[in-house]
Formats: sequence, structure tokens, C-alpha cells
Amino acid sequence: MSEELSKIKYDLERGMQELERTKVELSILYEISNAMRTTLKLDEILYIILTGVTAHMGLGFNRAMLFLVNEKDGIIEGKMGIGPESHEEANRVWWSIEQQKMDMDDLINTYTISQHSQVSGFNRQVQHLKISIHDKKDSLLNLVATDGMPLHLTRETIHNYAQDPVIQILKTDELVIVPLKAKDKVNGIIFADNFITRKPITKDNQRMLIMLANQAGLAIENSQLYEKTATRANIDSLTDLWNHGYFQYLLSMQVEKSKATSTPLTLVLLDIDDFKIYNDSLGHQTGDKILKELALILKNQSRKMDYVCRYGGEEFAIILPKTDKKEAFLIAERLRENIEKHHLGHQEILPNKLITVSLGLSTFPEDGNTSTELISHSDKMLYEAKHAGKNKTCS
Ligand code: GH3
Ligand code: MG
Ligand code: MG
Repeated sequence: MSEELSKIKYDLERGMQELERTKVELSILYEISNAMRTTLKLDEILYIILTGVTAHMGLGFNRAMLFLVNEKDGIIEGKMGIGPESHEEANRVWWSIEQQKMDMDDLINTYTISQHSQVSGFNRQVQHLKISIHDKKDSLLNLVATDGMPLHLTRETIHNYAQDPVIQILKTDELVIVPLKAKDKVNGIIFADNFITRKPITKDNQRMLIMLANQAGLAIENSQLYEKTATRANIDSLTDLWNHGYFQYLLSMQVEKSKATSTPLTLVLLDIDDFKIYNDSLGHQTGDKILKELALILKNQSRKMDYVCRYGGEEFAIILPKTDKKEAFLIAERLRENIEKHHLGHQEILPNKLITVSLGLSTFPEDGNTSTELISHSDKMLYEAKHAGKNKTCS
């Protein structure tokens, strides 16, 4: 009888412990998913997910990295990595977190994303990693993206993947990999390990990570949908360039940035010469086709850091960050010459038998201190270019 009683007591205690553990797990997941709900910005979402995976009061892994499946470009790309690179760094960071009694919210709020990406070498390594989706090689990324199943690599199995690009970065001997999904499609992949403490990854650890991944996949999809919609609202539907409203916003932002970093910035306004003649003779639709073609030329000829916008009608604006007047003038002239050389349809009906453009430049800080002043100066220069006979750049 007493033996039976003690067994009941034992089972009851086990049950209580189990219940307590589940309660803790649930509250951790609840806290992370609440944090994910506070933002729609993709970078912030990814940071919250990885903080949840690595925080002591979260899932407690030493390191985690996150990849996103980018179907449009056909690649799986490294987006973010969180974790110390060495024992010294681990001790320093973990000690400081403990000293400051930081909870998950504090961690998320204190370590801003820009700060994190600048400081962390591990993060930079992750962000350099890109592999093709269509690669038939059995890389771990492709494997998990295709199968959609979690994978636990142990000391016994991990050597089979010694050459894998991710293992080359992690140099770890135990690892768990989980897919992130939205509507049954893999949209991301998380890798997590205990590189520093070498604590074995338990079934419970894996289960928690899978549960978190389910939420994370949805949060990522939500944020991507939101960003796509927000972007679409800023794009001119005819030319696919930034529209006037967004141009105004971009220019103000860039002027602020230039002020803060004491770097120059040049604004180019560009207007098609005699476009009214073209339009009136060939019709609005043919005119629209030229606007589209021209937009493509502008986009292809500008640098990655430049912002090409449709200012209005047949006028375009290009913001050239970190570019002084001298350099901008060369860029503008090259653009003008390329457009002159480019064969756009039915040019022969124009006075000089070519579709050409005139350009006006203004440079921060010498021509203006605000976006309004810069626009006004570029406009004046454009007017001068027209007066001087068109197909010219004035600065
Ligand atoms: P200038 O060399 O002085 O610039 O002469 P212009 O004829 O180009 O004069 P202006 O820039 O004032 O003319 C704008 C013309 O561009 C008016 C209109 O026929 C045409 N235009 C403006 N917006 C659009 C548009 O969205 N689509 C088309 N097809 N034409 C447009
Ligand atoms: Mg015009
Ligand atoms: Mg014009």
C-alpha cells in the first residue's frame, strides 16, 4: 500500500514538474510572439526572432542564424546572425546582460539593429552567404528548404557536411536546423547551436525552436506583404520609378543624412526636350512608351545608391547621395549623351531629329540647405539649360 502511495506521489510530482515546464515554455513563446507583433519591419522581426532563440530567458541557444528564401531572385540568402564569436566575447556579453538584469524586452530594445550589424563579425559572415535555390548540390540550406523538415546534426552525423558553406561558418559539432513556413511554404531557415557552452541540444530545445519557427514564418510573411504594399504606394505605375511624393520624402531624408555626416549630395532634375511636339504628333500612348523607355535608361545608368524618381509628367529627378557637383556633372553629362545616342522611336519628327533631355543640378550644401532650396535651384538650372538651346546640363 505504501509502495503504491509513493508511486502515486512520484507520478504526481513528475506531472507537476512537467506542468511547470510547459508553463515556462508557453510564457517564453508568448513573450516572443508578443514582441514580434510590435513591429512590421522585417529587420526588426528577424532581430526579435533571433533574440528569442538566443536569449537566456528565451530558448537559450548560444548562436542562431536566419536565412530567407528569396523566390524572386532564386536564392536563399543569409539575413542575420546573433551570437558571440569567442568565449571572451560570450563572457563579456552574457555577464553584462546578467549584471544589468535585462529581460527579453530590454534586450530587444537596447541592441538596435544598426548597432548590431556594425559590431558583429558573425552577422557579417552570415549576410555574405547566398546560394541558388536551384542548386542541386545537397547543401543543408537546400535540403531543409526542399524537405521542409527540421534537422538535428550531432557529433556523429555532422562530419558528413564538413564542406557545407554554413558549417564552414559555424565550425560546430552539434546543430539544429528548422524551416520557417507560411502557408506550408518554406520562407526561411534558422540554424542554432551551443558553440560556446557545448550543451547538448535536447528534444525539448528542438520542440521549442519548432514552435517558435511556426510563429516566425508567419510574422516574416506578414512583414514582407506589408513592405511590398507600402513600396507599391510609393511607386509610379507608368515608369516603376519612385513617385513624386516619395521623392520629396527621400530628398528630405538624404539632406538630413548629408547634414549629419557632412557629405555632399546632388539633385538632378531632367526634362525631355520638345516633348509636347512628340506627344501631339504621335499621341499620348506613344509618348507614354517613350517615358517608360527613358525611365529604364535612367535606372540602368544610375548607381545602386542613387534614387531615380518621376518628378511629374515628363520630368525626372535623380538624387545622388555622397556626390559633389564635379562628379555629378560628369554623371549627368554621361546620362545626357547616352540618351542622345539611344535610339528611341520616331525621333525624326522632332526639331533636331533626336529625343534629348536637359538637366539642372544643385548640390548640398553650396546651392541650398533644404530640399526646397535644392529643388528650386535645380529648376533654375534646368530653365537655363533650356534657354541655352536644350540638350544641355547646367549646374
Ligand atoms: P521643353 O523642351 O521646353 O521642355 O518643351 P516641352 O514640349 O517638353 O515642354 P514641357 O516640358 O512644358 O511639356 C510637357 C509636355 O509633356 C506636355 C505633355 O504633352 C507631355 N506630357 C506630360 N506628362 C505626360 C505623360 O504622362 N504622358 C505623356 N505621354 N505625355 C506627357
Ligand atoms: Mg516639362
Ligand atoms: Mg519638356
